[in-house]
Amino acid sequence: MASMNRNQPKLQGFVFTEKLGCGSYATVYKAYRKGQQREVVAVKCVLKSSLGKKSVENLLTEIEIMKRIHHEHIVELKDFQWDDTYIYLIMEYCSGGDLSSFIRTKQALPERTVRVFLRQLASALLCLQSQNITHMDLKPQNLLLSNTYDPVLRLADFGFASYMTEDVFADTLRGSPLYMAPEIICERKYHAKVDLWSVGVIMFECLFGRAPFASRTFTELAEKIRSSRPIQIPDSVHISDSCRDLLVRLLQRDPEERINFSDFFAHPFIDLEHIPSADSLNKAKSIILKAIEKDTARDFKSAVQLYCESVQFFIPAIHYEKDQRRKDALRAKVQEYLTRAEELKVLLKPESQPTPSATPSTSQVNQPQTLPDVFLLEQLAAGHHNLQLALNVAHEAELQDAKENYESALKLYQDTLEQLIPILQSEPRGRRREVMNNEVQRYMGRAETIKQFLEIKRIPFKQESINEALTGEARKTACSIQ
Ligand code: ADP
Ligand code: MG
Repeated sequence: MASMNRNQPKLQGFVFTEKLGCGSYATVYKAYRKGQQREVVAVKCVLKSSLGKKSVENLLTEIEIMKRIHHEHIVELKDFQWDDTYIYLIMEYCSGGDLSSFIRTKQALPERTVRVFLRQLASALLCLQSQNITHMDLKPQNLLLSNTYDPVLRLADFGFASYMTEDVFADTLRGSPLYMAPEIICERKYHAKVDLWSVGVIMFECLFGRAPFASRTFTELAEKIRSSRPIQIPDSVHISDSCRDLLVRLLQRDPEERINFSDFFAHPFIDLEHIPSADSLNKAKSIILKAIEKDTARDFKSAVQLYCESVQFFIPAIHYEKDQRRKDALRAKVQEYLTRAEELKVLLKPESQPTPSATPSTSQVNQPQTLPDVFLLEQLAAGHHNLQLALNVAHEAELQDAKENYESALKLYQDTLEQLIPILQSEPRGRRREVMNNEVQRYMGRAETIKQFLEIKRIPFKQESINEALTGEARKTACSIQ
């Protein structure tokens, strides 16, 4: 209340209370809508005289567009009005304040939290992109938090940069060069990718508590911006490989080298497709229907793949669900599908390799007198040093196969083939070539079966996120910020 003063803007139908913040050309107040409901809102008052005539027009057009956007990670613009002095943007109130103060109180955020916020920001950027809007002023001060106990990020203050004419351009430079892509400052060039640089700076600041160009003096700052040195990632905090990879790719000074939007959305650290959203559950359900269909039709391989794919959507659906009972029910479902997928994986296990002596290959069924190919080949290999070596490897492969050590068996079969095939190619026609050829075919078939099995076994389960989701640990991802 201390900030209330006589010059405070007035808006009919609203009672202004505290000042929430002010940026380069607006002041934002918390306000109540008069009447029974006393709805709390944030009113952003833009001083018209601070904008050129063209900018006012553009601002009004953009407000119209923004009024149409309803996105859970973009601040909702409820209404707008104007008088002679001000344009008023009546917005949803975000009681968690902005990300800048949030980082300051925590000093730095754990990677998990950074990921949650960054994915939410990416989702907002995807929405803006679909409307052909580039934000151009992304910074922690413009990222609001819905509340403090379970903060959800909401992008605010967008669109202004797109009405910026040359005169406001200078203001921007004074505003936040810390977050601005170097090409804007050095070459005065705007390109949609400038937003991605800013995302990198925001990510850096969340993780390490300071912007990469943080400086004590303006000269130092200017020097850092103009330098061509790659951005140094501090090693004071441990970050995962995918986190580091994204950070490095966002903070490329050369926009050509910088990650592009589609790669950003698809990057493992963002993986926008699997972000918790209102849609996650529907996606999961439609995949599970297909999985059950395949399962019933005994197409187990496809079924396993689909069960696993559905889990990739069930996990975010669990994160998204707020109701504890429905959350638990979803967890139980996921557990069921995982168990079924595991059962199917066992069913798909390659049958144990019949030993050559016990079950002769079909070619010998009618010739019970002859030796199995592998033994015959061993005899025929006498004096052929390389062939003997290859057969030793093959022997080891079959041993590992019989022991169900499929990973090493596969590797050994591949080694065998690598050695055997060239020998086969230079082998003159004759009995030995024929037998060798049979054996090569057999090893190839076996290697292929095992490979397929291992692929199914490896279908990603992102075990960590599954465990989290199933135990309910992740429920507080965003709020359990130390
Ligand atoms: P400017 O264009 O002047 O930068 P912003 O829209 O960024 O104006 O608002 C300035 C500051 O006011 C923000 O950094 C934030 O701290 C606060 N603020 C803005 N909108 C809201 C809101 N809807 N709820 C809560 N605080 C807000
Ligand atoms: Mg702002």
